[in-house]
Amino acid sequence: MKQLSVCRYCGGVIRLVPAESIFGKRAKKLGMEGEQVYQCQNCNARVCCHKGTTRPLGNVANEVLRLKRIEAHEAFDALWHSWHISRTQAYKWLSQQLRIPVDKTHIGGFEMDECQRVIELCCKTGDGAA
Ligand SMILES: [Zn+2]
Repeated sequence: MKQLSVCRYCGGVIRLVPAESIFGKRAKKLGMEGEQVYQCQNCNARVCCHKGTTRPLGNVANEVLRLKRIEAHEAFDALWHSWHISRTQAYKWLSQQLRIPVDKTHIGGFEMDECQRVIELCCKTGDGAA
């Protein structure tokens, strides 16, 4: 995994910071307590890490991309929760649908086009399988 050091949006310096410094008390509720986040010190673009590590899930995201990642996550979570399967099974299914390795299947690291594919996939599948 490449190191994140320079922001792809503004060229600003990216630093690894505690999740609490960004989310404050919400970090606990978000399941981010004690986790680290890569954050551009200039424009606030950011990306979370694999749990308990400093390995980024993907590239830093500006606000537009962050909202898209959240939207994709909500669509995906709603779908697999309705299936009553495990999180592991759900991600395996998603990786197969997207034809990407399961260890690369992290919505928190997806780009706009990948997020859009997740949203469309979940809409389509949700309609058909319900
Ligand atoms: Zn930046």
